[in-house]
Amino acid sequence: MNALNLSVFLSLALVAYCVPISQVTQQDESFAKNYLKQFFNMTEVTGPTARRGFSAVTLKLMEMQKFFGLQITGTLDANTLDVMKKPRCGVPDEKIARFATFDGYKWDKNSLTYRIENYTPDMSTAEVDDSIDKALQVWARVTPLRFTRIYSGTADIMVSFGRQEHGDFYPFDGPDGILAHAFPPSPGIGGDAHFDEDETFTFRSDRGYVLFLVAAHEFGHSLGLSHSDDPGALMYPVYSYSNPDTFVLPRDDVNGIQHLYGECTSPNPDTVEPGPTAPPTPDACDSTMTLDAVATLRGEMLFFKDRFFWRSYPQSVTPQQTLITNFWPQAPVKIDAAYESQISDTVLLFKGRKVWAFRGYDLVRGYPKPISRLGLPKTVSKVNAALYDVHSRKTLFFVGDQYYSYDETKKTMDRGFPKNVDETFSSMTSTVTAAFQYRGFTYLYSGPYMYEYSMRSGRLFRVLRNSYFLRCTNY
Ligand SMILES: [Zn+2]
Ligand SMILES: [Zn+2]
Repeated sequence: MNALNLSVFLSLALVAYCVPISQVTQQDESFAKNYLKQFFNMTEVTGPTARRGFSAVTLKLMEMQKFFGLQITGTLDANTLDVMKKPRCGVPDEKIARFATFDGYKWDKNSLTYRIENYTPDMSTAEVDDSIDKALQVWARVTPLRFTRIYSGTADIMVSFGRQEHGDFYPFDGPDGILAHAFPPSPGIGGDAHFDEDETFTFRSDRGYVLFLVAAHEFGHSLGLSHSDDPGALMYPVYSYSNPDTFVLPRDDVNGIQHLYGECTSPNPDTVEPGPTAPPTPDACDSTMTLDAVATLRGEMLFFKDRFFWRSYPQSVTPQQTLITNFWPQAPVKIDAAYESQISDTVLLFKGRKVWAFRGYDLVRGYPKPISRLGLPKTVSKVNAALYDVHSRKTLFFVGDQYYSYDETKKTMDRGFPKNVDETFSSMTSTVTAAFQYRGFTYLYSGPYMYEYSMRSGRLFRVLRNSYFLRCTNY
């Protein structure tokens, strides 16, 4: 326990360096308490509880941090507050699991009715109708469930917009914060979905909240799913934008809903076409995984894969997985390479012939720009990996079996390059898929393997697996 506490303190110090330092105000504290009461079922207890002397708030804070894959500090740090302030669903985060259900609440029929009781003025009625219909089809596509719209009387799923106190003792909270909530299957209010009219809902724009996305999530509750801690899942409690036209139900949600209702068995009578399903959220425990890119960021390590990256603090054992776009809304996904330029205090992300630079959360002006602007030949269609060498202040770009050297101070490409990778890094004859430098060593990834080199001599020390830094903590 002491060792754990120590590591928690050490990493706290580093976290403080990594994120904009913000003073936790009294207002933040009462906001956090309310958040824990609302979403983590915290009951008001005064004074510390017997269990290890932790207060109820600390215990709930730890539970919340575990759910969101944050560092479990038990204190209201900036990262935690950041997550609490994100727009989200009003249904509590009851269990800590990948997909979860409300203890078996489900409909005992596959044909359900829905009714749209009123409309938001934010969108046309046709857009609302379309959003609601498409949101239900998300679930129909992978199950035997079918939805029929009715225009009067009581439907299984009553859809309505309301603000503040709206008749169910779960008042909404004005703009942002809670966007909507829905009730698990049962008669009466069960299945109903309510949307906070104080939000600005939208059909397709990335401004405001896409009604289709919010509704698809809420209907997951209407059908019996509760929140998932998979950051890629639709049932993750925090809202994140994705393009409604290319939306595919993530694997975790498919598993969840099929756990309740089974798969779409017979060819569909209602001509609901079975759609493609999204690949699963990358798993740190997958020993065959090839990372897209690895970089450092102000003392943290970032591991990129598909739409996600893991942040890992040096003293932390649990890497935190998040959507790239939650961090950098303008960033590409499925990137090719990344590195941190300490000179310009930016992170550079590469995809195809383009490079993006971010300082903090913001895209640096003038980006994205073509990689040829860095001095790479126009024939280079992508960079496989990039790494910044602290000592020489050079950045190495790996392209195929060769690499280029870029002078960060002069902002020019060095002469005498490209060189063959194995000329400098012994035994590296396959493509370098990711690279970074950490504590005086250079790490080159090739597939799921990681090669540890001395930066100065290029001598190979060890061949390790991905999991050496990106730890599997699913136990
Ligand atoms: Zn929800
Ligand atoms: Zn309500």
